[in-house]
Amino acid sequence: MRLGPAVVCDGFAEGCPWRVQTHVHDDHMADFERSKGLQDLVMSPETYALLVDERDVDLEYRSNLHRLKRGEKRVLEDASQLLLLPSNHMLGACQTAVELSNGRRLGYSGDFGWPLDQVIQVDELVVDATYGSPASVRKYTQAEAEACLFVLVCERVRQGPVHIRAHRGTMERVLTVLAGGIDVPVLASRRLIGEVEVYRRFGFAAADLIALDSNEGESALRQRSYVRLYSKGDGRGNEPVGGTSIACSAFMSGRDGHNDPLTMYSDSSYCVALSNHADFEETLAYVKATGAKRVVTDNTRRHGRELALAITDRIPGVHATPSTNKPGPRWT
Ligand SMILES: [Zn+2]
Ligand SMILES: [Zn+2]
Repeated sequence: MRLGPAVVCDGFAEGCPWRVQTHVHDDHMADFERSKGLQDLVMSPETYALLVDERDVDLEYRSNLHRLKRGEKRVLEDASQLLLLPSNHMLGACQTAVELSNGRRLGYSGDFGWPLDQVIQVDELVVDATYGSPASVRKYTQAEAEACLFVLVCERVRQGPVHIRAHRGTMERVLTVLAGGIDVPVLASRRLIGEVEVYRRFGFAAADLIALDSNEGESALRQRSYVRLYSKGDGRGNEPVGGTSIACSAFMSGRDGHNDPLTMYSDSSYCVALSNHADFEETLAYVKATGAKRVVTDNTRRHGRELALAITDRIPGVHATPSTNKPGPRWT
């Protein structure tokens, strides 16, 4: 996503001095190593902390990685001004706005949830189109989806161990849900416990986690009474199979369309949709709130075209076109 001559978001561009890293999901990390060598990188302090935790420590000693607090402006060499605002998608995720020296204001939504306290004010906007199809309207609230997960875990843990899988972003919400009070130990790898420390540092409420290989962890495993969490980099685990497995999806999912956050595959296997993306109507509300008159919908996934039509059709005075980049792999 190019925002004027000096800034590119979540990618590398030849001759472009600045890269904004909107968040740490894999589909936004393209060419990160190349950028690290050739560009100045800007990101929120939270995103920076997650990257330092996950990747080589050399990141910490680089002078071309810059932390920009969300809501603060940074003036670049060409006198354009860069602003990041929270996007309610995962820890550190942000919307990006660039005001060029001639006053033209360009923005990129990044991946975003809705509602948002603050929305970038721009003339031209690139908007994420994850739920760009009019069919993508969530019929339940995020709080209902979280309550559904809590009830399911409480119920299933009486029958034995519960295994929960979630990607970053979704895992934050699982941890908050479990902090609501689960009577058994919550086990995780030391890797995940380290990552959760980063969340806590930034004020996140999270359930207390117990390391799998600690005494307490091993005793819970023997008694077969625990909740076990798996996230990126944790593999499948090697405990005896059995118990309940719950996948927490970052996408709306399920045979029941978008009516129910819960999908039951069997009596020991479930999926709960904890989506961190605005749905179709919410995406339109976001576009309206930015004040943009020209919009490019991110057509990396399938729905850029549909969303562009809907925006042009439903928001007076706004013209939208899909981006020309090709569909890529689907990820969070
Ligand atoms: Zn994404
Ligand atoms: Zn994302």
